[in-house]
Amino acid sequence: MSKMEQKAVSRPIIELSNVSKAFNGVSVLDNLNLVIPKGQKVALLGPSGSGKTTILRILMTLETIDAGQVRVGGQSMYEEQSGVPRLLPESQLRSVRARIGMVFQHFGLFPHLTVLSNIALPQILNGQARKAEAEARALDLLQTVGLADKAHLLPDQLSGGQKQRVAIARALALQPDILLFDEPTSALDPQRVSEVLDLLNVIGETTGATMLLVTHEMEFARQFADRVLFFDHGQIVEDGAPDLVFTNPQDHRTRAFLGLPA
Ligand code: ADP
Repeated sequence: MSKMEQKAVSRPIIELSNVSKAFNGVSVLDNLNLVIPKGQKVALLGPSGSGKTTILRILMTLETIDAGQVRVGGQSMYEEQSGVPRLLPESQLRSVRARIGMVFQHFGLFPHLTVLSNIALPQILNGQARKAEAEARALDLLQTVGLADKAHLLPDQLSGGQKQRVAIARALALQPDILLFDEPTSALDPQRVSEVLDLLNVIGETTGATMLLVTHEMEFARQFADRVLFFDHGQIVEDGAPDLVFTNPQDHRTRAFLGLPA
């Protein structure tokens, strides 16, 4: 591998630098630093309320930060104004937004639109495609997630697992190179969990997308991730390869969380 190629492989796609965030005066992220190289599959674990989902929401610009900087593909999302980070204007954020897709815990589908329209509409609103092209892509994606025969149903006519597949297809429709998943298995029956894992692995292989996934399922994280982060009170207390983190975590908080002896 040449020097250039090595550089390309390790180039960070996401960088959080000294990020702090509080809600109503309560700190949720505390001076957090996190660098994620392109193509990495990262599982975010840790107790409820430790700030994991907030990180995904910050990347989606659904929340803003109180201090620090967030970069996606090298582009800053904030500018300093009187010492406070301000989100850049919409026109400058557009290219960042276009790179990131999120699958929400409760899927967030539009209930009054068919499955096909749920997947086509964001492409049209984004200006990425006209109706016919957007619907053709939506059908292709439904094929990928195994739901081509459900295109003309409404979300409520689908099972939880099927709704989630639609939500995944919708996120993929915008062809993002970063995919965020908030608790993708929590609303599903246990027997559906391995299907989600298979689907995410296929997506990883076919798109090469960088993936961040919040989960409570340790086994799922272990099988999905290249890298596991343990959060506790808004800080990363453990960061490493799944085999290492699950068998021999170094931090006492991770050991306690995993039920290992101190
Ligand atoms: P996790 O994903 O690790 O369970 P979250 O990032 O969802 O944790 O939340 C961290 C903390 O921030 C929780 O105590 C939660 O109640 C609080 N929180 C998250 N979003 C908001 C919000 N929009 N307004 C007020 N509090 C919030």
